[in-house]
Amino acid sequence: MEDTYRHRGLRRQLIDRLREKGVKDETVLQAISAVPRHFFLDKAFEEWAYEDKPFPIGNEQTISQPFTVAYQTTLLQVKKREKVLEIGTGSGYQAAILAVLGARVYTLERQEALFLKTRALFKNLSFGNIRMYYRDGFKGLPEFAPFDKILVTAGASEIPKTLLEQLAIGGLMVIPVGDRKGQWMLRLQKVSEKEYIEERFDRFRFVPFLPGTERSTD
Ligand code: SAH
Repeated sequence: MEDTYRHRGLRRQLIDRLREKGVKDETVLQAISAVPRHFFLDKAFEEWAYEDKPFPIGNEQTISQPFTVAYQTTLLQVKKREKVLEIGTGSGYQAAILAVLGARVYTLERQEALFLKTRALFKNLSFGNIRMYYRDGFKGLPEFAPFDKILVTAGASEIPKTLLEQLAIGGLMVIPVGDRKGQWMLRLQKVSEKEYIEERFDRFRFVPFLPGTERSTD
């Protein structure tokens, strides 16, 4: 896979567009300029990689729009060495952004086909510390809890309690919550074993957070 001068130019234009749309966090913008988004799309769709749009990645799933990735990553306030759990690996793009920011990333995907495809992709890339699991995100990853940060990249109908339990005290969870038509971006800060501060941000539309895992059929 190649990251050419032209790809880097397109990425600079994408960064300009994200700035126009209000993304201000320079660390996040730098991470977006460091990760070739076209690596995460099929070769045939390379031309679309630097548009600020979501894109189908197969199995009825999408790679999030760059603006959404920037938005969620900004809210998460990732610091180097933090343990971050991502729910919904999908293409792996968001996981790569978190890894470039220096996080120790754990990411879960419920669709085996996507998990296998993305795991194979990462064998050829070196974005840092990313561990991937074919798991139901509703259950989290208790053997590695607590996490400093949890990022959910699928639209949930409610806040999963199990995930809150796996958050460190002082930790943040960013999660879109609503119905299939749209979700509010929420940020929860765990202040004690049983208490959370909730902040509500803008509305988004994510693919649904679904229970259980799904085996690959081929
Ligand atoms: N972060 C991804 C976005 C993918 S879309 C990216 O950067 O490309 C959301 C993903 O969440 C889909 O791949 C979907 O299969 C997955 N998902 C939905 N419910 C899940 C669950 N319970 N556990 C794990 N993954 C889930």
